[in-house]
Amino acid sequence: MVEVISCFDAVANPGKMLPVEESINRILNVVPNATKTERIPLSKAMDRVLATDQYSPFNVPPHTNSAMDGYAIAFTDPLPVSWRLVGEAYAGRGYPEKLNQGEAVAIMTGAPVPEGADTIIIKEAASLKGAALSIQGGVQKGQHVRLAGEDIPRGSLCLPSGSLLSPQALGLLASMGLSSVEVFKPVKVAIFSTGDEVVDQGEALPEFGIYDTNRFTLRGMLTRLGCEVIDLGIIEDDQRSLSEALALAASSADIMLSSGGVSMGEADYIKSALKQEGRVDFWRIAMRPGRPLAFGDVGGKPFFGLPGNPVAVMVTFMQFVQPALRKMMGQTAWQPNRMIAIAEETLKSRLGRTDYSRGVYHINESGQLVVRSTGSQGSGILTSMVMANCLIEITDEFERIDVGEPVLIQPFSDLM
Ligand code: AMP
Ligand code: MG
Repeated sequence: MVEVISCFDAVANPGKMLPVEESINRILNVVPNATKTERIPLSKAMDRVLATDQYSPFNVPPHTNSAMDGYAIAFTDPLPVSWRLVGEAYAGRGYPEKLNQGEAVAIMTGAPVPEGADTIIIKEAASLKGAALSIQGGVQKGQHVRLAGEDIPRGSLCLPSGSLLSPQALGLLASMGLSSVEVFKPVKVAIFSTGDEVVDQGEALPEFGIYDTNRFTLRGMLTRLGCEVIDLGIIEDDQRSLSEALALAASSADIMLSSGGVSMGEADYIKSALKQEGRVDFWRIAMRPGRPLAFGDVGGKPFFGLPGNPVAVMVTFMQFVQPALRKMMGQTAWQPNRMIAIAEETLKSRLGRTDYSRGVYHINESGQLVVRSTGSQGSGILTSMVMANCLIEITDEFERIDVGEPVLIQPFSDLM
């Protein structure tokens, strides 16, 4: 028998399982921070992670300007009966002089507020007879004026290092005149499947064979995260092939993921290979699906041995691999988005175990966020993932959730 750390701990003590949160913390404690950076054009930076704190070199907006089409005046109390219209201000072309008492300037949205003016009267509230401007209704000092720097004052931190560059973040950087940004380099992830029964697409399916699912779900999720995928294919159940695959993965990637071969009943070859190439723990996690998980270090790189069942692969990726990758990508303190929904049906779990059922959430007729499961929840039933739009997370302290009770959900829109 090969001596592989806590696997045997678990075998000797089958009741002992690792809680989900502790597993995540152990993983996050050892995966490395992002270090390698590159400068790329802002136009190519969508979904990348900012590698430097970004301070604003100037005020945004740069000039105090009008938020409406109307007339710029100097507020006084009381207001004059009428003003004399003396000129116009357009966006990009202001009124060149200082406003004198009793004067008004026609102003367009975005145009700089002329010197001497501080208040805008909207077009609809004003009437013009010749050059005499009068108004209906009240006026508040400073109304409809956008102050210089009210969005971002000069010198302020507007986007910290570790920010994911969303469309709105790109817009913010663009408003500061940046044409390129320093971002972390994409993480290179090697993936492979294991199993003599697992067959590549394009090959005829032998008796008792199954087509490889996991490399495709993994590639999809990794692509969404912006990782570079190194696909090492399907590795047969044989210690030498696996050792070679691991050595190749460790030399070309920043992190590696395999699927299959980590459950208790599996042949020992995978444990032997992992022991030979690195230091890997075999965990039994108090969760369903996805109880077996191997995690450790192979050739100095983090290694995840995910379960073989396709749903378990996706769920363990979302809960364990994703936070690790986000850290390696430079994103600070990432957590899945959780919401509370009301159960539309009874959901079963077990005390001391976290269940991730596949769910469908929606807003019902009374405006309540509700969730139901997608039905059959076997860890090999991938259609349950396809039908779902969230994971229903029933944590350790619940045995079941009854109809009408609140339950946590993790929407897919955030997970993958
Ligand atoms: P294992 O952990 O290797 O015993 O695999 C558990 C289950 O997942 C078995 O039914 C395998 O046939 C199945 N499985 C393993 N790898 C894959 C894969 N890449 N695609 C689809 N099913 C798989
Ligand atoms: Mg297998």
